[in-house]
Amino acid sequence: MKNIVRSLFFTRDASDDELRRLIDSEHFDPLFERANEVRHLHFGDDVYLRGLIEFSNYCKNDCFYCGLRASNRSAVRYRLTHDEILQCCDEGYRLGFRTFVLQSGEDPSFKDEDICQIVHSIKTKYPDCAVTLSIGEKSYNSYLAYFQAGADRYLLRHETASDEHYRSLHPQNMDPVHRKECLRNLKKIGYQVGSGFMVGTPGQTLDNLVQDLRFLQELEPHMIGIGPFIPHGETPFAHEAQGSLQRTLNLVAILRLMFPQALIPATTALGTIDPRGRELGLQAGANVVMPNLSPVRVRKLYTPYENKICTGEEAAQCRRCLERRLESVGLHSVVSRGDYPGVRR
Ligand code: SF4
Repeated sequence: MKNIVRSLFFTRDASDDELRRLIDSEHFDPLFERANEVRHLHFGDDVYLRGLIEFSNYCKNDCFYCGLRASNRSAVRYRLTHDEILQCCDEGYRLGFRTFVLQSGEDPSFKDEDICQIVHSIKTKYPDCAVTLSIGEKSYNSYLAYFQAGADRYLLRHETASDEHYRSLHPQNMDPVHRKECLRNLKKIGYQVGSGFMVGTPGQTLDNLVQDLRFLQELEPHMIGIGPFIPHGETPFAHEAQGSLQRTLNLVAILRLMFPQALIPATTALGTIDPRGRELGLQAGANVVMPNLSPVRVRKLYTPYENKICTGEEAAQCRRCLERRLESVGLHSVVSRGDYPGVRR
């Protein structure tokens, strides 16, 4: 196993069989030590902050794993106004955030003009900040319009690279080919692009995870977000087992070795399945955290999965709590946009 880690470190690649063995390993210190070393080599002790603004929990889609799915009639829905979103940015800027991530379900009531206006307002008020969008699958022209309005980055997890597995997690009208096409369009337009997948979704095999890594090698995203699958009671997967912490950490470390300069978050989902999940993610090579800037009154309503952490605290409290967590593992946050090395529009 040590040889596999060594080869990943030097060549950023391994055979399918070697990857399967690493993904499936019990805690293997050399993997995490190498991943930490690579993170340190490229980013020192710096961790980038992204201020997350969940501005709408309406969604027209019906993904089988997600509590925001349209069929979940018990979800209490909300939308933030343009002004409320800007107020979140005001608070975030004051707290030292220089990236704002605007996230929502696929909510048709926000037209392209609305998104462009929101992006434009933020970029006008805070030209030193990056705006990341995470609002789902759109046409090439929509993506282009947002980019021209000033959006810098776009997050769209591919969820699973296997078409067959994708179809088992989504209704028939959702197309894995289109999702990948969206990611390629985003790259073509010039966004810093984030992709990623869930670990432990129902039916997922080790081969599926290797396929995910191969797809990422082909896409070469700037950001890679992965988190454990966590079931939600109002979905068809309510009684499925949650994804494994160990396997998710193994994959974070493997991703760090395969994509040394990528921006990899220690996700809230990791913190949800284990009280020290985010710290463990950072020690496995992650270098981004995404505290919540949404107004406290809506936090509990944005629940793609259950028992999500950090839903009761003001942004400032979240910020202080995270700082302490970073310090506990010898890291610190920086007031910076945190672009992919060498890439800035
Ligand atoms: S995963 Fe995204 S697109 Fe799917 S139902 Fe949830 S919010 Fe909507």
